[in-house]
Amino acid sequence: MDFNKLKEMGLEYAEKGRNAAMDLAERGKTQAKIVNEQTKLAKAQRQLGALVYSLAKGNEENQPLVDKYIEMIDAIEKDLADLRASLDTPAAEAAAEPEAPAAAESTTIEFPIEPEQKAEKKTCPQCGAPVSEDALFCNKCGAQL
Ligand SMILES: [Zn+2]
Repeated sequence: MDFNKLKEMGLEYAEKGRNAAMDLAERGKTQAKIVNEQTKLAKAQRQLGALVYSLAKGNEENQPLVDKYIEMIDAIEKDLADLRASLDTPAAEAAAEPEAPAAAESTTIEFPIEPEQKAEKKTCPQCGAPVSEDALFCNKCGAQL
């Protein structure tokens, strides 16, 4: 038995194990980002819906503002696709892990919850117009909030 050879192999496996652990951590981060992006997407879609509804109700048009929301939604969807793709590609080692514990783990990840805004009215930093609590853009000047 060549002890040095065994030691080398041991080191090699230890190294591999460490890399796999790092991959898992990276995947966890990516999954957290995906959830975060999904939340942003849902919010932007809700805001766009509310905007279109209020424009239609008031018989108004604000295509530039609608476009801003659509652009933002497109950008988020693209980010999501990239994040999901990055989870799919280097999955070889991590795929060997049983799926169940990973899933259980991901449900326990705590995401920073945006503190609910107080009753104070939010205003646009650009033009000072009153804006709704979670609007993403100012309805008046279109500034990103
Ligand atoms: Zn404004």
